[in-house]
Amino acid sequence: MLLVKPDFAEELAAHGSDTAMECFNCGTCAAICPLIYEHFPRRMLRYIQLGAKEKILEEPAELWRCLHCGLCTQTCPRGADPGEVILGLKRYVTANWRKS
Ligand code: SF4
Ligand code: SF4
Repeated sequence: MLLVKPDFAEELAAHGSDTAMECFNCGTCAAICPLIYEHFPRRMLRYIQLGAKEKILEEPAELWRCLHCGLCTQTCPRGADPGEVILGLKRYVTANWRKS
C-alpha cells in the first residue's frame, strides 16, 4: 500500500523547491522536455502534490536524467519552476539517502 505524506511539499521547501503546489498539471513541461520520458517532469510535481514521496524514492535515479536545461521553467504558465523542483528533489534525496 502506498503511504502518502501530505506535508511532503513543505519538507521539500527546506531543500529549495517551494513551487510544486502551483502546478496545475497542464503537461507543457513534459511536452517541451528534451528527455521525452514518461511525463517527466510533470509527474514528479504531481507526486509532490499528492504527497506520494514513496513513488519518487522508488526510483530516485530518474531525477538525475534532468539536464537542467531550463526549458520547462521557461514555458511553465504557472511559474511552478519544475527545473528547480527537480533540483530540490535531488538535494532532498542526497540529504536523506542514508536515513531512508
Ligand atoms: S508546465 Fe507548469 S503547470 Fe504545466 S504541468 Fe508543468 S509544472 Fe505544471
Ligand atoms: S530542466 Fe530537466 S526537466 Fe526541465 S526541460 Fe530540462 S531536462 Fe527536462
